[in-house]
Amino acid sequence: MDNQTARKLVNDSIAELGPRFAEIDEIALQNQKKVLDAFAAHGVQARHMYGTTGYGYDDCGRETLCAVFADALGAECAIVSPAISAGTQAITLMLFAVLRPSDRLLSVSGKPYDTLNDVISGKNRGSLADFGVSFDCIELVQKDELTPDFDYAAIEKELKKAFVKAVFVGRSRGYAWRNAVSVEQIGEMAAFVKKISPETLILVDNCYGEFVETTEPVQVGADLMAGSLIKNIGGGIAPTGGYVAGKRELVELVGYRMTSPSLGTEIGSHLGGYLPYYQGLFFAPQTTKNALKSAFLFANTYKKLGFDALPTADKPAYDIVAGIKLGSRRKIIDFCGAIQAVSPIDSNVVPEPWAMPGYQDDVIMAAGTFVQGSSIELSADSPLKSPYIVYVQGALTYEHAVLALLRTLERTV
Ligand SMILES: *Cc1c(COP(=O)(O)O)cnc(C)c1O
Repeated sequence: MDNQTARKLVNDSIAELGPRFAEIDEIALQNQKKVLDAFAAHGVQARHMYGTTGYGYDDCGRETLCAVFADALGAECAIVSPAISAGTQAITLMLFAVLRPSDRLLSVSGKPYDTLNDVISGKNRGSLADFGVSFDCIELVQKDELTPDFDYAAIEKELKKAFVKAVFVGRSRGYAWRNAVSVEQIGEMAAFVKKISPETLILVDNCYGEFVETTEPVQVGADLMAGSLIKNIGGGIAPTGGYVAGKRELVELVGYRMTSPSLGTEIGSHLGGYLPYYQGLFFAPQTTKNALKSAFLFANTYKKLGFDALPTADKPAYDIVAGIKLGSRRKIIDFCGAIQAVSPIDSNVVPEPWAMPGYQDDVIMAAGTFVQGSSIELSADSPLKSPYIVYVQGALTYEHAVLALLRTLERTV
């Protein structure tokens, strides 16, 4: 497609998205208020930015950061740390913190994210299975063509079969062709589970979900949630890290797992200081807003060209991911190449499919990002298999998304 045609198409698409964008602006405003209120409530000062060394006893920067994150996420308590290397590690901490030998874990949103496979079922690597935790998985059902819902009948059956210590929910779509589940749906499911089995914990993979809505899963009945700081909640500023947030006594268990059962969250230093983590949280509502608009813009524009694409303009989105069924390996590679070419970093490199650790299929990833692999920055990836869906997420600025979209149209259509 030539540049002129692409511009006209994108402009029409933007015009159609007006009401959706207005709603996204309002959500960002409410979330920005939550963040600012949290900063004020904990009296954040310049001294909280400074680094510490050694054990990090009385590290006020670390302690205040955790408190501010907890408030902004509507949680009783949170652990936020640059020492949590990725979302996978944060979710691993959450799982190992509460599960004990012979416990049952039940996923109610289908197969957990690829990198959790070995965490749950790996052999001889210290997985939950190695420690005698059993795992069952219930697929989501479809409410309508693209809206998922929990399979309540199957959940009830599993809960009544034998005690389930924890129910696991993935909020985002992952690499599945469906919309994400909403916080409201998670709340309904949590209430349902607790009614049948009050002692069962609700654990949420919150990746890509933070600040997409105005409430978070722990505000509607989830006990713990975990995520990555190089996605929504790091605002594109945090250079690494993860968090776990939720009920105080459970977050304490996460602390025991993270450092040691004798030390918990009393220790932990970070020489580099906490400025990018505070600043990232401050930016997160706006960055998430840009990413959401980008997702709608990519999906709506490709939909106008006849491709199947999600999210659709007629419904709110519950994560920041767009999926486009491009239909061929060639188009995926061209699309990812275009995204890479309009990136601020490494625009000269050409992404290729490879066997990434933790993933089942060959994966291609375009991520010309300031922070390595950050997917709150504009990035695109695809497990290369039929029906050849490319997933696009992020964009620190909305304008970057527009320019990248134009380039993909020129290259792939
Ligand atoms: C990114 C992500 C994770 C964790 O991945 P990391 O690369 O380890 O941060 C888990 N679940 C979902 C749905 C994700 O998007």
